[in-house]
Amino acid sequence: MDNIIEVKNVTYEYSTDQEIHTAVNDVSFGIERGSFTVILGHNGSGKSTLAKMLNGLYKPTGGDVFVDGINTKDEKEEIEVKRKVGMVFQNPDNQLVASIVEEDVAFGPENLGLQPEVIRKRVDDALKSVGMYEFRESTPHHLSGGQKQRIAIAGIIAMEPECLILDEPTAMLDPVGRREIVDTLHRLNKEKGITVVLITHYMEEAEKADRVMVMNDGVIIDDNTPKEIFKNVEQLKAVGLSVPQTTELLYALKQNGFNINTDVLSIEETAVAIAKSLEEK
Ligand code: ADP
Ligand code: MG
Repeated sequence: MDNIIEVKNVTYEYSTDQEIHTAVNDVSFGIERGSFTVILGHNGSGKSTLAKMLNGLYKPTGGDVFVDGINTKDEKEEIEVKRKVGMVFQNPDNQLVASIVEEDVAFGPENLGLQPEVIRKRVDDALKSVGMYEFRESTPHHLSGGQKQRIAIAGIIAMEPECLILDEPTAMLDPVGRREIVDTLHRLNKEKGITVVLITHYMEEAEKADRVMVMNDGVIIDDNTPKEIFKNVEQLKAVGLSVPQTTELLYALKQNGFNINTDVLSIEETAVAIAKSLEEK
């Protein structure tokens, strides 16, 4: 398998005056190049700590993280690692630096020391790829939360990373903004081949992922396709996650004696499953 990221027996301990707290505990996995992975977990499960280790922002206190074969502890390669793996955070307001959209997106490429015409092209391409080109001359703070977060993503895309890590990028957005972001990420994954690691506590955002990892108390407790993950309704509830409403509905119907396919996720698939089950009655 061709993995862009390799996480090998990684532990992260926070030391405070009183105690040592293990936020990530001996975790190992690979992220396949070109894949779309969702990491699910409730608050405090260690998601952000893990995320920050995936592009070298934090160095593991135990074990190693490799990005394209480079150990993130290798200080000479720090810039190279950050260039390959871009990070998007929760609050778009904290990530926007300029007062005009296109200047904001240009900020990263300018720091890479690229030629002005190369920067121009990258900024335009990045804005088009997140569907925000027509807003290039707008002021970011006049935009919606979802639009601002798409600008923040464009700013990272303009650096042409191979992999994008997003740490709860939708947490501060309304449902429309959340949908915009998830759709944008799937488009970037399909059309540009960018590897995506989306960290979230919203289960619905995992529906179309290739792979879902469930994190709890510093460890990965499940790692599978979305459909397999959502079969474990009880386990997900036990770690403080709520399953998608479609899954909840199908399980309730099944428990009430319907012969129904619970192996589906989208609203469309759910409608078909219910219609089929009614036909059989
Ligand atoms: P998540 O992103 O899933 O909410 P975090 O990675 O932020 O989880 O936190 C994991 C655990 O580490 C939590 O118990 C949290 O309280 C603890 N933690 C996070 N940051 C620090 C810190 N700077 N110092 C001490 N403990 C921390
Ligand atoms: Mg977090």
